[in-house]
Order: sequence, then C-alpha cells, then structure tokens
Amino acid sequence: MSEMKPKIKKKRNHGITWRWIAGSLLWTILILIVGVIIISYSFRESYYNQARLSLLRIIEQVYSQVPASYQMDDSGRERALHSLVQDFSERDRFELMTVDTDGNILLTSSGFTYDSTEPMDDFFEAANSASRSAGRIGYALDGEHIISHTRLFHVPINNSIAGIRMVTSLRLVDAQLKETVYLLVLSCILILFFSIFSGVYFIRSIAIPIRSIGNTAKRITGGDYEVRIDNRYNDEIGELCDIINDMAVGLTDADRMKNDFISSVSHELRTPLTSIRGWGETLLTAGAGDALTFEKGMRIITSETDRLSLMVEDLLDFSRLQTGGISIQRVPADIIAELSEVVMVFEKRADGQGIEIIYNEPEESEPVFADRNRIRQVFSNLFDNAIKYTKRGGSISILVSKDDLFVTITVKDTGIGIPEDEVDRITEKFYRAKNSLPGSGIGLAVVNEIVSLHDGKLKVESELGKGTAISVSLPVLTY
Ligand code: ADP
Repeated sequence: MSEMKPKIKKKRNHGITWRWIAGSLLWTILILIVGVIIISYSFRESYYNQARLSLLRIIEQVYSQVPASYQMDDSGRERALHSLVQDFSERDRFELMTVDTDGNILLTSSGFTYDSTEPMDDFFEAANSASRSAGRIGYALDGEHIISHTRLFHVPINNSIAGIRMVTSLRLVDAQLKETVYLLVLSCILILFFSIFSGVYFIRSIAIPIRSIGNTAKRITGGDYEVRIDNRYNDEIGELCDIINDMAVGLTDADRMKNDFISSVSHELRTPLTSIRGWGETLLTAGAGDALTFEKGMRIITSETDRLSLMVEDLLDFSRLQTGGISIQRVPADIIAELSEVVMVFEKRADGQGIEIIYNEPEESEPVFADRNRIRQVFSNLFDNAIKYTKRGGSISILVSKDDLFVTITVKDTGIGIPEDEVDRITEKFYRAKNSLPGSGIGLAVVNEIVSLHDGKLKVESELGKGTAISVSLPVLTY
C-alpha cells in the first residue's frame, strides 16, 4: 500500500509587490474619485447658497422700497413700483420683474417680455407659503441655469400686481464652480502621479533589491556558498548586500575548514590503524614463539592505540567546542608543578627528534585556580605544536614570568613560524595556516577556550621562518 504524502503548500510571492502597488493605486484612485465628488458637491452647495443669499438680500431691499398700503393709494404704489423696476440699478446682474396673481410677468427691468410658459416654481411656492417668499434654482426655457426668487405682497396692488420676482443667471457661479472642480481634479491627478512615482521608486529601490537579496539568501541556505549579490547600492540595502556577501564568504571558509578537518582527521586515523593492522597480521603469522617481534609489535600497537585515544579525545573536544560544552573543574593548583610534569613527558619526544628543550624550573610555586587536567592539556597542545613545527637542531624555550595579576608561561620555538596575516586566525576552529602540517586545526581553538574559561589570556607571536612564541597567562591565586 502506498503511503499518502501530505502536500506541502508553497507560498508563492512572485509579482506580489506589483500587485500590491496596483491594488493600492486602485484604492487611491477610488478614494480620490469619492473625495472629488464630495468636495465638488459641498463647493456647489456653498456657491449656490451664497447666490441664494445675495438674491434674497437684494429682493428684500427692493421690496422694502415699495411704499406700504397705509402710506399711499394703489395707483401711487403701482407707479412707485414701476419706477423701481425701470430704474433698477443692478439690472446688469439681476432682472427684476413684477408678476400678476396668476404668475404672469408684467414688467421687467430689462424691458423684455417673457414667455408666460417660463417655469415659475418659486412663484407658486411663494403663493402657497405663509412667508409669501420662495426661491428656486432651475433652468430657463432657453436652457440657461438660473436662480429666481419671488416675493409676494400680502395684498395685490390694484388686485393685479401680486409681487416682485428677481432672476439671475448662474453662468458665472457655474464657471467658477467648474474652475474649482478642474483645480481639484488636477490636484488629484498630481497626487495620483506622485503615488505612481513613489510606488515605482519603492519597487525599484527597495522591493526589487530585497527580492534579489532574498533569492540569493535562499541559494546560500540551499548550500550554494559561492553565490554573491551584485551590490549596486550605496544605502542601507547596499550594507545588507555586503553583510550577506560577507556571510557567504564566512560560510565558504567554514565549509572548507570543516571539509579539511574531516579529511585530515580521517587521514590521521588511517595511519595508526594501518600500523595496528599490519603488526596484528605480522604477530599472527610469527606466532607466540618469536618473543622479540612479539614485544616490538605489542609496543607499537599499544602506542598507536594511545595515539588513537588522543585523537578520539580531540574529536570529543571538537564536538564539545561546537556545542560550547567544554567544562572545567577549578581547584587551587601549582601551575609550575603541572608545567614541569608535561615538560618531562615531552622532553623524551623532543630528544628523539633532535630538538632541545630549555626550561629552568622556577623554585617557587605559582598558585592558580585551575582545572589541572585541562591546564596540562593546554601545555601538551603547545608543546605538541612546537615540536611538530620545529626542525631537528632547533630548540623550544619555556619561560615563566609574573606580575601582580597574572602568571605567564611562554612556549617559544625556533620552528617554521606562521605567515603574518594568519597569526590572528590560528586560534579559530579548524583554521590551519598555509604552511601547516597535517592536523585537525582545533588544538589551539581548544587551548583558547580553556584559557578563557580560566579568565586567562592567550597571545600568539610569530615570525615566518624564525619561530613562534605562544603565551598563556592565568590569574594568580590570592588568598
Ligand atoms: P593543528 O592540529 O593543525 O596543529 P592547531 O589548532 O593546534 O591545529 O594549530 C592551528 C594551526 O596553527 C596549525 O595548523 C599551524 O598552521 C599553526 N601553528 C600552531 N602552532 C604552531 C607553531 N608552534 N609553529 C608554527 N605554526 C603553528
């Protein structure tokens, strides 16, 4: 039966930025259109209101000039009204007229007679209202946009003149309104252009570079450490590109060093294993009778096994170093005693390789607060390297110095030295100088870790071809 695999949904974000921009643009256009409609409508209301008010003001002014019935008889009032209409000073802007009780126009300030079918909604409204006054906005028969207002007398003059009416064209008001709306639309178009421009700027300067950075980062995550971002930016994006490129370089280095480590450790493991296997076979063939070969073989097998144990210890330290799991157990200890013991072990090996060890053991003890095994491991690593990198006939000097705070042990050899630009890096995990011999590249990293766990300091000085001096300083123990 085949197993059903759950489908993994992958989020696709291709073109998401453009879609986002298009979406927000659509919203902007929609908001602008609604804004233009609302603002235009309120402008129109305010303009027409102003027109209504000024018409009302003027018609009331004229109305107040018509003599009241108690002041004059109807024919006198009619004459006075006629001359008011005929001499109306604002006739350029407003047309003043008198209307009869049926809503027919009797006399106009312009002198034109009107078609009696002109819509006179304001008249009929005024006739039906208690205030005898009403205004309207509408269209004249010739299609002109007008505003009109009728003001009726409480009692018609001569039973025929019902009141006065004033009409004015809204042409100028409409033109002004149109201009305002045009300006509004123009501002909206400018806002729209600005939004498009800033959107495109955002995409080109932020979204596109970030997408390319994201794609590169994805490739790096997938193990392609060689890929680099083409950095064409001078801003924060440029800085981010540099950081990611540096990270890729760091990962390439780390990857290379790790591979070197694995290959050199496998190589180192193979040598003692070959030797053990070879001697095992020899002993099997020779049998127990050949005492000399047996003893030699067993000695080599034992020492090769020791070497393998040390390497396994190295590997364990490596994994502890990776996980930050190196721990120490500090007790009061004499650092000189520990140093002297390790020197004794290495003296034999150095002697065998024709290297002189110069060590004047101090008479006084130097108390420190330390993990004795770990401190011996530090010295062993330093001596191991010094012997490994010093040629026959060379020497290794061990110097002890002290100040108020630290006691310092320096292991100085006359070996091959370390290239100047690599001195600072040899304490890094897996780092091995260009001129190094086979090794794991973690010895000094472990030394560094142990020394700093002891609140101490490690110092490397070296000159290519002349030798190397590595100093370990530990805080003196004060009671
Ligand atoms: P390795 O197992 O390679 O010796 P280490 O961490 O002990 O690893 O040393 C790191 C590198 O530092 C070595 O590969 C070598 O290049 C350099 N090194 C350390 N000690 C010495 C020394 N005494 N003389 C020259 N080079 C040294």
